[in-house]
Amino acid sequence: MADYNVIVIGAGPAGYVAAIRCAQLGLKTACIDKWINSEGKSSLGGTCLNVGCIPSKALLDSSHHYYFMQKHAATHGISCKELEIDVAAMQARKANVVKKLTQGIGALFKKNKVTSIEGTARLVGNQQVEVTAADGSKQTLTTDNIIIATGSVPTQIPVAPTDDQLIVDSTGALAFDSVPQRLGVIGAGAIGLELGSVWSRLGSQVTILEALPDFLATADRKIATFAQRELKKQGLDIHLGASVTGTTVANNEVTVSYKDNKGEQQLVVDKLIVAVGRKPNTEGLGDIQINERGFIEVDEFRQTAVPGIYAVGDVIGGPMLAHKGSEEGVMVAERLAGQKSEMSYDTVPWVIYTWPEVAWVGKTEADLKAAGVAYKVGQFPFAASGRAQAHGDTTGMVRILADAETDRLLGVHIFGISASELISEAVVAMEFEGSAEDLARTIHAHPTLAEAVHEAALGVDGRMIHA
Ligand code: FAD
Ligand code: AMP
Repeated sequence: MADYNVIVIGAGPAGYVAAIRCAQLGLKTACIDKWINSEGKSSLGGTCLNVGCIPSKALLDSSHHYYFMQKHAATHGISCKELEIDVAAMQARKANVVKKLTQGIGALFKKNKVTSIEGTARLVGNQQVEVTAADGSKQTLTTDNIIIATGSVPTQIPVAPTDDQLIVDSTGALAFDSVPQRLGVIGAGAIGLELGSVWSRLGSQVTILEALPDFLATADRKIATFAQRELKKQGLDIHLGASVTGTTVANNEVTVSYKDNKGEQQLVVDKLIVAVGRKPNTEGLGDIQINERGFIEVDEFRQTAVPGIYAVGDVIGGPMLAHKGSEEGVMVAERLAGQKSEMSYDTVPWVIYTWPEVAWVGKTEADLKAAGVAYKVGQFPFAASGRAQAHGDTTGMVRILADAETDRLLGVHIFGISASELISEAVVAMEFEGSAEDLARTIHAHPTLAEAVHEAALGVDGRMIHA
């Protein structure tokens, strides 16, 4: 008999969720993870909890409080004469949030009887995994099934090699111990915009260089245009069509060379963040089939070419988002326990945690035009929302796209306060194949920001009340 029914490799949001679900369903499960944090201690939760979703949101929230006190508090009748930033305290709070949550995964493993193993895993056969502990000792475990959830690491580009001092990746940018005066960011994706926002709110002069000609190329065009304008107002200097060609470090500053439609340009900064995406992490994993982009190849149920070996999360590509990986983990676990679970990517929500936030689910107008689908649009501005007015944050809008014939919801796009929370209503409605009429007939509490979603749904049929 094998040591385990399932061995999960990696304890990020894809792996730890898969492991817990396997154990809940009665499978004898171990989860192996190699993460060592900046204190030299092993830490569960992967990129997401240690150096991704959670610490970035902790700093976004702290920096937003500061920005609010500086720019908006006075309009609420609140004044503060001596506002100061204590970066060390801000970082300590972030570390504490991370510590609580990563330790929480350990507690969840215990409660659900998942065996947690510290070390680096390597496939040594279809049903064997070798684990090398931090002290170099090795053990080989046997298992009926393997779920690979080894995640991703920041992409490095030869034109801007990170040195962990002046040129850093997202992990380095989450750990600055002071506010850089001039900050460059390569890449205007979610990570570049979020980290750029953190340090801009705290006082950095931020320049973002993005190679693509369009801002947030995969988002709704109207939302992207509004978001770009708003971020510019906040001080983010975003250069589109700007491809970085080289960097030099001298005298404690970085000179970034880039090419745009005006020709060769240069930018001098005190710190440079490289945020050009993430690549799958399969290093040292052993014999596993990967595609030309380095992702592990899987079928619709996330099984690799080898029966009994599955892969989930960032390491298989698709939307490289924590919640995508978690759902894949749940599906694989349930199928291993004999259930017929399925999952599609059609209703995976996307969120960018700028202020305000950008969130969407489903198709954009560009997607629908390209597919020749006739659609109707309902659009409601937050400026017409009582709750947004009361809050003092009226930027942005909700846009709903519905099938012109059937009224089925095809896409929902939000730029505005709490968009990350508001999008869930749209996800649920779309998961149930709902229509704009379904949202329009749903009673929304007053006054709430969610009323803006309700109004946009009414707007699909030209019957908004408040705009
Ligand atoms: P990971 O979280 O990368 O976990 C993989 C784990 O496997 C790691 O712990 C690693 O140590 C371990 N491992 C790897 N190889 C081995 C091995 N051979 N043996 C043992 N263990 C191994 N996503 C969102 O959805 N929302 C956000 O707001 C968001 N913000 C982000 C902000 C930043 C700054 C970054 C960098 C990412 C962010 N992401 C966000 C992306 C998100 O973090 C990833 O999509 C998610 O962590 C992927 O989960 P995963 O489980 O596939 O892999
Ligand atoms: P994401 O993959 O969403 O995290 O975004 C990364 C962004 O970095 C993409 O929009 C890329 O176009 C951008 N990018 C990649 N390489 C470069 C480069 N050399 N110069 C400027 N932008 C880049």
